[in-house]
Amino acid sequence: MFDAENLALQNRILSEEVKRRVEQLAAINTVAASVGQSLDLDITLETALSAVLSIVGAEAGGISLIEEQTGDVVLRAQRGWVHDFVSNPMRIPAGKGMSGQVINEDRLMLDNDLDGTEELYVPSFRDEKFRSIAMAPMHARGKIIGILSLMSYKPDRFDEDVMTVLRSIADTVGVALGNARLYETTLENEKRLDAIVQSTADGMIATDRNGRVVMINHAAETIFDTDTRKLIGKPLREAPIHPRIRESLLFALSSREGEATKAFKVTIESGRMFSIVVSPVYVESQIDQKKETDGWVIVLQDVTHLRESEVTRAQFIQAAAHDMRNPLGVALSSLNMLETAFGIEDPAVLEILGISISGIRRMQDMIEDLLNLEHIESGFGSNMGEVDLVDMIRELSQEMKPVFASKNQTYTTDIPFPTLSIQLDRKWVSRAILNYLNNASKYTDEGGKISLKMYTNERLVHIEVTDNGPGIAADSQARLFERFYRVPDIIGTRGTGLGLAITKSVAEAHGGRVYVRSQQGQGSTFAMALPLVN
Ligand code: ADP
Repeated sequence: MFDAENLALQNRILSEEVKRRVEQLAAINTVAASVGQSLDLDITLETALSAVLSIVGAEAGGISLIEEQTGDVVLRAQRGWVHDFVSNPMRIPAGKGMSGQVINEDRLMLDNDLDGTEELYVPSFRDEKFRSIAMAPMHARGKIIGILSLMSYKPDRFDEDVMTVLRSIADTVGVALGNARLYETTLENEKRLDAIVQSTADGMIATDRNGRVVMINHAAETIFDTDTRKLIGKPLREAPIHPRIRESLLFALSSREGEATKAFKVTIESGRMFSIVVSPVYVESQIDQKKETDGWVIVLQDVTHLRESEVTRAQFIQAAAHDMRNPLGVALSSLNMLETAFGIEDPAVLEILGISISGIRRMQDMIEDLLNLEHIESGFGSNMGEVDLVDMIRELSQEMKPVFASKNQTYTTDIPFPTLSIQLDRKWVSRAILNYLNNASKYTDEGGKISLKMYTNERLVHIEVTDNGPGIAADSQARLFERFYRVPDIIGTRGTGLGLAITKSVAEAHGGRVYVRSQQGQGSTFAMALPLVN
């Protein structure tokens, strides 16, 4: 009988214990469910505190967070207090008071018998007249982020059970607050970054990998005289921005050099000049650790003011070159005279004369080309007008006939439409295409084949000059359009290495670009693409 009674008692104790544990777990769950609802730090603080108080049944409570920079413990939420210690925050320096102890020792603390004689870091806390207090450190990501406190006006208010619940709840609340704080910091950083981007004097546009605008700053809005709402989410192709700038951006984004940063200048009709840099944005993919282009960032600077100094520079170079031209011309005609008028027959003297004459000619060519390049790049003296490109090519082909004939080269054209009118500077574009045609003839052997093909796609007209000459090695191809670059193994042909640089500048001044396809031993195709509308 005694045993049975004992067993019944044991059972009752056990089932009460189970019930208590279940209640504790349910309490912890309720808190977890309510604090996980929001990422807003203030809301999370308030929800957490009211959930904790209602579950534990305490009259008052508080949540303090450790300030990262100072280590101070700052009260961020309170319930049931006389003083408002949140608007005018209660701040306890690192290591001080009971909270300092909780943090230093990383443990719960309980005082069920406050009598007002305790030493307090914040004396006005005494006015609250609490008789019991329980404090627990809150952890998140492996470190203490703050303290959760329960208070009561009655002594002996908090027992072991409350402390057990408090311990678990403190960490649940800690994780939720840690997340909210992380989110808040991220938002703050984002805002700071946005403020920087918005206040820079350079125009900035960011696009996703498909060229859709995802961000535009104030300076870019001013440059384009548009507002963010009209641009965000739009593909650049449809963006309401100056067509010439738009076309050059589309080139840069679609160009075959792929992921490299591109820098270029665009001049629009009003004479304003923009320096534009387009760079890919990389994100480290978390899945396969590969670096992928996530989009593009475009930086625009209005460099119209620099144009003036470029014009001055061009004028100076022009004047200097002009002054050099005359003495060179005199030297050349004197040498020619020596060669012809004095009946010199000594081969050694003739050779020296020949070297001097060709040296002077090279110098003259270089001066001409430099002058041209200056002219185009400064945007100085450009003369845009409606030009029928088909007609223009026909004229240039006519002009080139004797050049091709002198090397027995055949020349054909493939132009699938009778006319094509676009806005361009006839003199400069003619010069650019003549460079291609002359090079094709110059670098291709006697009897070679040269052709010119013209075609359009959505936005561009392509003009491609193909020859069956020596072709160009891949490593040289990238440098062909640089000033003064000449392929090292091509010898014996006269040139300055400036022709292709001129062609490139002409194309870019029109919002277009140049490209080359070539294989050594198989000939080359040099091409220019110009926007149909600008
Ligand atoms: P230049 O002809 O005065 O040297 P360019 O700038 O016109 O200068 O050309 C640069 C270099 O590109 C040339 O020196 C030559 O090596 C190479 N090149 C140009 N066109 C061709 C071509 N059609 N075939 C082979 N090489 C070419």
